[in-house]
Amino acid sequence: MTFRALVVEKDEAGTTSASVQVLEDSRLPDGDVTVAVEYSTLNYKDGLCLGSGGGLVRTYPHVPGIDFAGTVETSDDPRYSPGDKVVLTGWRVGETHWGGHAEKARVRADWLVPLPEGLTTRAAMAVGTAGFTAMLAVMALEDHGLKPGTGEVLVTGAAGGVGSVATAILAHLGHEVAAVTGRPEQEDYLRGLGASRIVPRTDLAETVKRPLEAETWAGCVDAVGGAMLARVLGQMKYGASVAAVGLAGGAGLPATVIPFLLRGVNLLGIDSVMQPFDNRLRAWDRIARDLPMDRVEAMIVPATLADLPDLGRAILKGEVRGRVVVDVR
Ligand code: NDP
Repeated sequence: MTFRALVVEKDEAGTTSASVQVLEDSRLPDGDVTVAVEYSTLNYKDGLCLGSGGGLVRTYPHVPGIDFAGTVETSDDPRYSPGDKVVLTGWRVGETHWGGHAEKARVRADWLVPLPEGLTTRAAMAVGTAGFTAMLAVMALEDHGLKPGTGEVLVTGAAGGVGSVATAILAHLGHEVAAVTGRPEQEDYLRGLGASRIVPRTDLAETVKRPLEAETWAGCVDAVGGAMLARVLGQMKYGASVAAVGLAGGAGLPATVIPFLLRGVNLLGIDSVMQPFDNRLRAWDRIARDLPMDRVEAMIVPATLADLPDLGRAILKGEVRGRVVVDVR
């Protein structure tokens, strides 16, 4: 038995290259469930793992793909049977364990989630880690008091994967969404997802000069970090929260503590990788209910395994819009 996979190899000089190869099933890693992958996707992290790895990949040859959705082929675990539809995100699959950029994956049953009712495997991958994380961020903001009607919610890196899904979910829930983008040509796309205001990236690019600015945002999903997150903290309304998701603009945080002390602003950390099973189910259930599928369709960039090396380079440059959905077959 064989399967096609995108294999990343590293030569003696440390240079990586990726190619589609046919592998024997015996090459699959250890695990208790083998899944016939139908769709995978591309996240920022996949961009790193498709190239030099960014320190995430430990051994080569490597099969990237931090997300996949498909059908169980064989299972040694009573929770899953052949024919079950499943989704996987996180758990360092695609980084330290072979991932979903392949027709087959073998993983631990603990890492899987049953495909939520109402979602296809393709739609689940249009969501993927980016969308799952966007939903975790929205849930965290709600758990800290965010309600529709309390003011504009800011989404940074809005035309990217996390930002696109966050914009669509928040707008569907009745929030006014202000979308920050560095790509003015994506205005129509973002308004189509439900954004009511477009904020140019340059408006928030400068580092903090005054620790507090006008109270503007009732909440924020931040995929950018760096100087932009620092600026946003000083613009939050009293008691409002920012869900810190990403670092597309930098890992530093050149901020002051003044917004926390004088305005009771909350900075909420969001991790999708090690999220416990119960919260995963809660997030996927919310995705199936609160993410309109017509808006998901508008986000999809279709791709094949062979397209991934180029797309990986593009996502690292912030050039991919919305969500890449990879039909691996
Ligand atoms: P994308 O590349 O799809 O989106 C990132 C977006 O950020 C870009 O599209 C761009 O949006 C904006 N951006 C890019 N570079 C800069 C910059 N220098 N300054 C300001 N804005 C910039 O990536 P994803 O949506 O997949 O991931 C977004 C971030 O979230 C990444 O850092 C990723 O690592 C992180 N992440 C974290 C997770 C977690 O568990 N915490 C899970 C998933 C992702 P625009 O063109 O609209 O400005």
